[in-house]
Amino acid sequence: MRITGIHTGEIQIPLARPFKTALRTVERVEDIVVRITAENGMVGYGEAPPTAVITGDTKGSVLCAIREHIAPALTGMDILALEEVMERLHHAIKGNTSAKAAVDMALYDLWAKVIGKPLYQLLGGYRDTIETDLTISVNPVPQMVADSLAAVQEGYRVLKVKVGKEGMADIPRIAAIREAVGPDIRIRVDANQGWNVKDSIRIITAMEDKGLDIDLVEQPVAARDIDGMAKITQAVYTPILADESVFSPLDALELIRRGAADLLNIKLMKTGGIHEAIKICDMASLYGVECMMGCMLESKLAVSAASHLCAAKGIVTRADLDGPSLCSVDPFQGGPAYDGAMIRMNDTPGIGITSVPCDFT
Ligand code: MG
Repeated sequence: MRITGIHTGEIQIPLARPFKTALRTVERVEDIVVRITAENGMVGYGEAPPTAVITGDTKGSVLCAIREHIAPALTGMDILALEEVMERLHHAIKGNTSAKAAVDMALYDLWAKVIGKPLYQLLGGYRDTIETDLTISVNPVPQMVADSLAAVQEGYRVLKVKVGKEGMADIPRIAAIREAVGPDIRIRVDANQGWNVKDSIRIITAMEDKGLDIDLVEQPVAARDIDGMAKITQAVYTPILADESVFSPLDALELIRRGAADLLNIKLMKTGGIHEAIKICDMASLYGVECMMGCMLESKLAVSAASHLCAAKGIVTRADLDGPSLCSVDPFQGGPAYDGAMIRMNDTPGIGITSVPCDFT
C-alpha cells in the first residue's frame, strides 16, 4: 500500500486559561498538522507543537523538515513495510524530533487503519482506559490553591503542580495545596529545571519531613546535568522523574545506568514519535523503570497518539495527557474519549481521529 502524499497544515486553538511554567507562558495551541495519504485514499493524521524552548523546533523548522526532507524520502514507500519507512524517516534529517513525531504518528495512524485495528491494540493493548493528571500552572499561591480545588471538583485525582520559580518558596506553595485538597489526591511536582542541586535536595527533603506525600518530583535541575539528577535521585526518597533530560532511547539508557532518575517521562515530541518511544518503553521494562506518558501543549490529535502508546504498554504507569483538557475547544472529530481525568480508548481503527479541520497544502 504505497504512500502517495504527505501534506501539512496549521491549527490554532485557544487555551481555556494561560499555561505557565518556570520556562514560559502560553495562551494558545499553535500546531502543525500532517496528513499522509495512501494509494487507496486512506489517510493518517499527525500533529506537532513547535516547542522552541524545549525541543528547539519552530513552526518554520517543522514545516521545512517535513516538506523538503521527510516527504520526498517517504513518498512511494509501502506503509505496511513500517520498519523500513521508520528507518527512512529517521535518516531523512537529523534532530527535528517534533517534525518526525508528527509524521511518525500519521504513519502509525495510516498503518493501523490499513490493518483495520485501533493502534493501541496493535502496539500491545495493555489497557483501554487511562487516568491523566491535570497541570496546575505557576501562579500566586491563592490562585494555585483555587485551581487545584477546581480540578479536584472536576474529578481529577492527580495534580501536576508547576513550581521552580521561587526556590524554597515552593515548599509553602505545595503545603498550601496539600492542605486544601486533603490526603487522597496525588500531587506531582514539576520544577522544569528551575532548581539547583542543593536546593532540590533541601526542598524535597523538607517536603518529605512535612509529610506532604509527593508522588514524584519532575526534572528538578537542568536537562544536561545528569550528575546533578543522580545526586538528587540518590539523596531523597521521593521518586525523581526525568523529563527534559530524556529525549532519545540513548538518553534513557544513560539516565538508567547512571541512576539519574527513578522514572522517565516519555513525550513523542522529544523522541521523534512512537517508534523511538517504544524503544524507551522496552528498555525501561528491562530495567524495571516505570514511565510516564506526557505531552507538550498539544491538542487532541497528538495527545491521542500518545494515549494509544500509553494504553499499549504496561511499563507506562502514569499519564500526563491533559493537553485536550487545557484547550478551550475541540476542533477534531473521533479519537479516544476525554472525559475529565479519564481517557477511554475505542475500537475505531488507527488513532481514531476522523476529521481534522484544516487546509492541507
Ligand atoms: Mg515536565
